[in-house]
Amino acid sequence: MNQVTREDVVVDLVVPCYNEEEALPETHRQLAQLMDAMCRAGRVSPKSKIYYVDDGSRDGTWGLIAALCENDPKVVGIRLSRNYGHQSALLAGLFSSRGDAVITIDADLQDDISVVPEMIAEFCSGHEVVFGVRRGRRTDTIFKRNSALFYYGLLRRLGIGIVPNHADYRLMGKTAIAALKEYTEVNLFLRGIVPLIGFNPSSVYYDRKERMAGESKYNLSKMIRLALDGITSFSAVPLRAVSVIGMLVFLISVGMAGWVLWIRLLTSRAIPGWASSVIPIYFLGGIQLLCLGVIGEYLAKDYIETKRRPRYLISETISRSDGYPAADRAAGLR
Ligand code: UDP
Ligand code: MG
Repeated sequence: MNQVTREDVVVDLVVPCYNEEEALPETHRQLAQLMDAMCRAGRVSPKSKIYYVDDGSRDGTWGLIAALCENDPKVVGIRLSRNYGHQSALLAGLFSSRGDAVITIDADLQDDISVVPEMIAEFCSGHEVVFGVRRGRRTDTIFKRNSALFYYGLLRRLGIGIVPNHADYRLMGKTAIAALKEYTEVNLFLRGIVPLIGFNPSSVYYDRKERMAGESKYNLSKMIRLALDGITSFSAVPLRAVSVIGMLVFLISVGMAGWVLWIRLLTSRAIPGWASSVIPIYFLGGIQLLCLGVIGEYLAKDYIETKRRPRYLISETISRSDGYPAADRAAGLR
């Protein structure tokens, strides 16, 4: 159980930012206000910090973060060497933090920050992991809502235990973060891993808002990548399904061969037919390509994992408080 009392609990906020120059000023205003209010109310220690992780933005995001660091000793700026993606940016923040607990939140503040004190209260009462769970998906586009519904249903059927309607708004205590470091796979799907590590998780509920400014940084290809990573990192069911489909197709082919032989040898109806030769070719070709694709997806994952490349590289860290060198280089692997 957590040994910290309310007044001296250091709770850091980690905010991944990719091309967020439009949202960042307002986001910081609200987060700084929240931090101040919590410090004054004795809910968190004044040592608590806000980490902005710039995930290789191409706009003025890093300039803004650097300016925030200059003006506010509570802010730590971490700049990744290029765009690594949301999950790696989160890891960079989680592993750089020195707090007793870390809350990860998106830079567009779609997730309601008014439940932060509730998350901290849950942490102080012994929950190392607190999930922020959305009450509904009213603010999503129809496409996003339905694809999410389908996808989470699929994950459940594949036996992957994720928390429904929870994304990456969560609190993790330092024990849970230390445990997360043990999961060294390069493609970490945090939504799947964090429920796996246990540590007496709890949830708080909120309504998700519209994006405050700018556009969604998850384009379709990033969404598909994350969705595939989520499945192939946690389940071998598609691979097994490939064997089952292969077996079924083999049995059907044997049946068809028997039928052809029967027509050829025992009847006089043996007219070479176009359909009966072309349809199996299309069918088998399609099935084979599908199966190769699924196997390839796992093989690619294995290929990437065996290389054990760092999950992110930090090119710069800025902080006005002690202990952070002006330029800090670190890799995302142990
Ligand atoms: N993000 C990131 N790297 C990326 C894409 C997104 O760090 O390659 C950040 C982004 O700045 C935001 C969070 O991840 O803070 C979630 O992105 P977004 O709000 O665009 O996703 P959505 O809410 O549309 O799913
Ligand atoms: Mg968003």
